[in-house]
Amino acid sequence: MQSKNIETLALHAGVEPDPSTGAIMTPIYQTSTYVQAAPGDHKGYEYGRTQNPTRHALQQNLAALESTTYGLCFSTGMAAIDACIKLLIPGDEVVSTNDLYGGTYRLFTKIFEPYGIKFSFVDMSNEAIVRAAMTEKTKMIWIETPTNPLLRIIDIERMISIAHENKCISVVDNTFASPYLQNPAKMGADIVMHSATKYINGHSDVVMGVLCTSNKQLWEQLSFIQNACGATPGPMDCFLTLRGIKTLHIRMQRHCENGTKIAHWLKNHSKVGDVYWPGFETHPNHAVAKKQMRDFGGMISFTLKDDAMEKALIFLSATKLFALAESLGGVESLLGHPASMTHASIPKAEREANGLKDSLIRLSVGIEHVDDLIADLEQAFALV
Ligand SMILES: *Cc1c(COP(=O)(O)O)cnc(C)c1O
Repeated sequence: MQSKNIETLALHAGVEPDPSTGAIMTPIYQTSTYVQAAPGDHKGYEYGRTQNPTRHALQQNLAALESTTYGLCFSTGMAAIDACIKLLIPGDEVVSTNDLYGGTYRLFTKIFEPYGIKFSFVDMSNEAIVRAAMTEKTKMIWIETPTNPLLRIIDIERMISIAHENKCISVVDNTFASPYLQNPAKMGADIVMHSATKYINGHSDVVMGVLCTSNKQLWEQLSFIQNACGATPGPMDCFLTLRGIKTLHIRMQRHCENGTKIAHWLKNHSKVGDVYWPGFETHPNHAVAKKQMRDFGGMISFTLKDDAMEKALIFLSATKLFALAESLGGVESLLGHPASMTHASIPKAEREANGLKDSLIRLSVGIEHVDDLIADLEQAFALV
């Protein structure tokens, strides 16, 4: 694939007409095994966990979208994160952000800490704090930006230079941005991780994880883990994700347009307290967002002026187009309540210390007509 443009890569990278029939769309190779002519004499495919042609096409496509050499798919985003941490051994340490996806925090602290890997959760907008957290045992820096749900922006290049100085692996969870908005590998990240469940697939009908890298040694280790641990996605899900990706750039454009209008509308609303969205010039990390992102995305969080849990709960049940649900990044608009949903696994004291108020509402702005979305929010505000 010659193009460097995501609009072309999304459709064509990794996808070839099917060699046996000429089918233009990658078939769903729904098979667990492949016939060998003689022992070891096969066409590159031996067993479904190890290789699958539909998965292969998707992996090549994702690598192109992230400007990396290799892509690997996993059954969920969490399985992709799990595979990354399995690069480490007991005694190793990871420095991570303090505004982390709740499931990642749970995996790190509840599953891997008991195996002897140590994690620190720090404010990654402050370089001095990150440097102070690095020790001789730090082997990985885990970056997530924009962060969830406060939409803070971490300077990827600054964090990667700290990783390089300390000879550790840098991983960026790029789920919130998608490959359309930012490409961490171009900024030097060793591994780019996605929950493809969100913007990449974009249609709320698949759960999947992705790792992209250009480092051959890391790719060999990660594909060994992918096969040895076995959290691989099925061919149907790979097909659906490939199909979803074909409109990634168009969906993202509309998510960003709608997000921009709704963020400004919320900011001027009398019942709204704070609005968290990196496109505002007043956002503390706006300059970093402008530097490393193509646009500002469709994720917006806000608090109610009257910061009361019960008012937030009324609002959450009152919207009609915005569906109350976990997840984000689908074509349809969703809203969520981090304190009781995605971040419920983080203790309340820790949540509040990190600025996550109980009335905080998170929007995943979809691609519906923006006037209808605003009207829906307005009728919900009228009830609180
Ligand atoms: C959803 C999500 C994950 C986990 O992915 P799953 O596909 O749900 O397993 C990890 N990181 C971020 C930022 C997410 O939003």
